[in-house]
Amino acid sequence: MSIKNNIAKLKESLPPGCSLIAVSKTQPVEKLHEAYNSGHRSFGENKAQELSQKYEIMPKDIQWHMIGHLQSNKVKHIAPFVHLIHSVDSLKLLTEINKQAQKNNRTINCLLQIHIADEETKFGFSEEEVILLLMGTELKTLTNIKIIGLMGMATLTENTDKIRGEFKILKALFEKIKSMNIASVDMKELSMGMSSDYKIAVEEGSTLIRVGTAIFGERI
Ligand SMILES: *Cc1c(COP(=O)(O)O)cnc(C)c1O
Repeated sequence: MSIKNNIAKLKESLPPGCSLIAVSKTQPVEKLHEAYNSGHRSFGENKAQELSQKYEIMPKDIQWHMIGHLQSNKVKHIAPFVHLIHSVDSLKLLTEINKQAQKNNRTINCLLQIHIADEETKFGFSEEEVILLLMGTELKTLTNIKIIGLMGMATLTENTDKIRGEFKILKALFEKIKSMNIASVDMKELSMGMSSDYKIAVEEGSTLIRVGTAIFGERI
């Protein structure tokens, strides 16, 4: 299967309201061009430096998604152009994104990453932490960021019931925050699902799936 076919097949299978992000991390730009030439415009990377390098090389009408753990000192590399940061996991990071957005005269859209998996290695807020952040006063002072949803990664397991359960928890939190009607928060995107579990994620209400391997093949 070609990259073009993989993308077309994936898109066909998605319900309205759910979009595909092609995760191109570690893939050579030739492969990104192949996806781009088939009409795809949404790409995801997990490292700030690689993201900004690929931004320089690729056409400028691409929407770039930062999906990996982001250190505060790397925000400046992506602040001028990034479309959406999925991996916000601290107030410190959010404050730095706001500062760099201000410097670039723009508003940067962000998702709060929630820790739903068993693995300690995965990043993100707990439910309690995220509610505290959203109720706190600091958020109101950050005028150049907009929180538009949540992101989560399920446990890496063959147990689909477990994966589904984790996505259900994330969706429930998403709905809970939405119903809180917080002025500076607009809950509209729920980023969940990768190559191995996107079908479950879509069934559980994902609006953004992040798929790499199933489009580009194994990473080198
Ligand atoms: C790499 C990565 C993906 C895509 O993983 P695949 O299994 O290749 O689809 C999705 N989300 C995040 C945060 C990633 O780092």
